[in-house]
Amino acid sequence: MFRKILIANRGEVALRILRACRELGIATVAVHSTADATAMHVRLADESVCIGPPPPTESYLNPVAILAAAEITGAEAIHPGYGFLAENADFAQMVIEHGFAFIGPDPAHLRIMGDKIQAKRRARELGLPVVPGTEDAVGSEEEALEAAERIGYPLLIKAVAGGGGRGMTVVQGPSQLREAMRLARREAKLGFGDERVYLERYLERPRHIEIQVLGDRHGHLVHLGERDCTLQRRHQKVVEEAPSLVLSPDERAEIGERVVSALARLGYHNAGTVEFLWQDGRFYFIEMNTRLQVEHPVTELVTGIDIVREQIRIAAGERLGFAQKDVRVSGHAIEVRVTAEDPRTLTPSPGRVTAYHPPGGPGVRVDSALYAGYTVPPHYDSLIAKLVVHDVDRAMAIRRLERALAEFVIDGTATNLPLLRALFANREIREGRFDTRWLGQFLQNWRG
Ligand code: ADP
Repeated sequence: MFRKILIANRGEVALRILRACRELGIATVAVHSTADATAMHVRLADESVCIGPPPPTESYLNPVAILAAAEITGAEAIHPGYGFLAENADFAQMVIEHGFAFIGPDPAHLRIMGDKIQAKRRARELGLPVVPGTEDAVGSEEEALEAAERIGYPLLIKAVAGGGGRGMTVVQGPSQLREAMRLARREAKLGFGDERVYLERYLERPRHIEIQVLGDRHGHLVHLGERDCTLQRRHQKVVEEAPSLVLSPDERAEIGERVVSALARLGYHNAGTVEFLWQDGRFYFIEMNTRLQVEHPVTELVTGIDIVREQIRIAAGERLGFAQKDVRVSGHAIEVRVTAEDPRTLTPSPGRVTAYHPPGGPGVRVDSALYAGYTVPPHYDSLIAKLVVHDVDRAMAIRRLERALAEFVIDGTATNLPLLRALFANREIREGRFDTRWLGQFLQNWRG
């Protein structure tokens, strides 16, 4: 097992990893920008290294600074968390070439899944059902028009290098396609430095269902069931739960087995999530995330498996200590993402937190790096806390969540807590009747 791990991230996920390390008896190195000198992950780590100024490109996205920090402190492994460099194959390669362990899959797998077209092609070859669309990036507008005839409208133009819910344009009919293609390519070039786009059928009322997997370096893979992340705003997840209301035990077992056998053929190891859209009883692969996900605690609560601990053990070459038959999903878990933003205008609201009181009690978990007196810096993601609850079934989990949301106090900065509270009072949410567009529509009428 490793003696010391460098955590190449910040915020709640840096703390999450730090906690796993501490429980395994592993020393931790935090890295931070000058904006994060007083951050919780820096305070709790055994050692810390300042790696640059506030802009991410000069600190958390700077491989050289991070490797230098690992070198100086004598860390043996690097955990990238999520976001920043977590899915950067070049970074993972550099980590390995410099003699550190990368706590994640092979760089080759990061590379395949980081390119959305290659990922879809590979998924299809591996026997997974994918969303109908073009096999390659579409070059000309003529080519796009032709392909669109085959795929049918409405359709989506997607940036090959897109991510984080950005880089998607819905096209309703052929008269819009040329203009939309021009715009989408320009935006892709500006946003991701890669103008390539492809076309995909637009599913109109899907649910987002993803399968969590864990695999060791000895060819042993298991799935930990699904998470339902259908409640999204601008294609970004806001609420995640497990199990999904729409899957029967047989459907769950079947999609899980298909994912496991596909990833086994790929030779995948460490944690990963295969994301699908689900509509009318059918699954459609959209992408794979080759890292720890924000919403992983939902799965941890229903399975009792510590995913970050397993990631570290796997990277150290240990075997998974359990088989598929040992994985049991019990009760129901729901996670809500608390963000520092005005829930009406959705504008970020960084600032000083004057009072902080997280909820507690049975079945309540809060993953957050906040404390009273902390100033939320403007340079990073607006996620400031994840509230996750677990209870015997969905109805009780919702009551527990409402109770916990009522206890939660974050003063000094605007948060989306009022929105989260309003959400669970809604009948369609309580009854589980929603699709990926539901929250956007709800927000149009919600005045807080
Ligand atoms: P990103 O990498 O930006 O997160 P994803 O491919 O994972 O992009 O998609 C994010 C979300 O966008 C999905 O959960 C879904 O709500 C929506 N989406 C993506 N592809 C489609 C599609 N073909 N039809 C309808 N919605 C889609």
